[in-house]
Amino acid sequence: MSAKIIDGKEFAARVRAQVKDHVTRLVNDHGITPGLAVVLVGEDPASQVYVRSKGKATHEAGMKSVEHKLDIDTSEKDLLALIDQLNNDATIHGILVQLPLPKHLNEDLVINAIDPAKDVDGFHISNVGLLGTGQKSMVPCTPLGCLMMLRDHHGSLSGLNAVVVGRSNIVGKPMAQLLLGDSCTVTIAHSRTKDLPEVVRGADIVVAAVGRAEMVPGDWIKPGATVIDVGINRIDAHEKGEGKTRLVGDVDFASAAKVAGAITPVPGGVGPMTIACLLANTVTACSRANGLEEPEGLTA
Ligand code: NDP
Repeated sequence: MSAKIIDGKEFAARVRAQVKDHVTRLVNDHGITPGLAVVLVGEDPASQVYVRSKGKATHEAGMKSVEHKLDIDTSEKDLLALIDQLNNDATIHGILVQLPLPKHLNEDLVINAIDPAKDVDGFHISNVGLLGTGQKSMVPCTPLGCLMMLRDHHGSLSGLNAVVVGRSNIVGKPMAQLLLGDSCTVTIAHSRTKDLPEVVRGADIVVAAVGRAEMVPGDWIKPGATVIDVGINRIDAHEKGEGKTRLVGDVDFASAAKVAGAITPVPGGVGPMTIACLLANTVTACSRANGLEEPEGLTA
């Protein structure tokens, strides 16, 4: 194996320590405790796990954490009323509505009801527009984490060829905008892309955000390229005689690591950075709301 393994767990621990330091300064010097409200509608087991771990991480960073758990049949009107209340709560600096929402709720309407300055997921249409025009915004957590790891590894990204596989609103598109912002030459690939292997072979940086287990093999990777694997896929290892379910990325790690210059593992790569960046966004939102200096290196 030749690639450097980019350790997302270790990197995330560094980011979380930086966030905690900044929180301590906000509390001690200004008497302000950053607050994050997470809203969960329904009882989706995976969402419950995410919400619990976000709450725990928020506490550990010294911030105020508030969870609102609503019944699955909560009306849009009631959910919007809660968001309005949180928008007007001066002790809350970040609001996150856990997705997906139950089908009877209009996700776009709900997300766009959040005050853009408190939109720590960066999904509000205003933040999407600000990011797209290179202005200060709240940046979606997963692509922000990927960008931090890439900057840390490369220093400058200027002039590098980057291929983002996947064009979702939450990962692929904002990732491409961030790479463009750092002066990469960016290609966005998707399910209709012709000759995807050849497109990926041209990349100095590959970000795979597809949701297909081990879809990108090592022979698609340019020797020495940096590979960021966003995918989280659960595969039933029983079928392979390995005895239990395991998590894999969108990249075939074993073959890609032989060719790449650097690669993120799954688990332990992008995943831990996503929560770290949620904390970073909350402390950034709090600093901005109070007209104070933003923590350095924690935003795009
Ligand atoms: P979406 O399903 O919203 O988007 C998947 C994208 O992949 C689409 O743009 C789709 O193209 C493209 N795609 C699908 N099949 C192919 C193919 N055969 N070749 C090329 N492109 C293809 O997924 P998300 O962006 O939400 O998530 C992607 C992955 O990242 C998932 O595994 C998810 O679990 C993971 N994830 C991980 C996070 C983390 O914290 N680590 C956070 C968020 C997501 P098209 O648009 O043409 O359909």
